Amino acid sequence: MTTRVYGGCVEPGGFDLDDDIEAIKCPECGGEAYERYWEACEAGSINQYHTIRCTECGHEEGDLPDDSDDYDLAHDAELDEIIAKLGY
Ligand SMILES: [Zn+2]
Repeated sequence: MTTRVYGGCVEPGGFDLDDDIEAIKCPECGGEAYERYWEACEAGSINQYHTIRCTECGHEEGDLPDDSDDYDLAHDAELDEIIAKLGY
């Protein structure tokens, strides 16, 4: 999966960044969690991130953004789509 980014980046016009997510076992409760790797363009450079979020106990770890409220909304919408595709 790729995310196209426009504006504020090194390359004008947008380009593809890595954005991969997979279902894993939660390290805390053993329930269904999602591990995500993605790249973000910040301050003119590409940064790589990695997070684990559990859908059952709410456990989170990794590179969590400061604006978690906005992030949660976008992330959940994206997750729903992915879950639907996976057939969960
Ligand atoms: Zn959990």
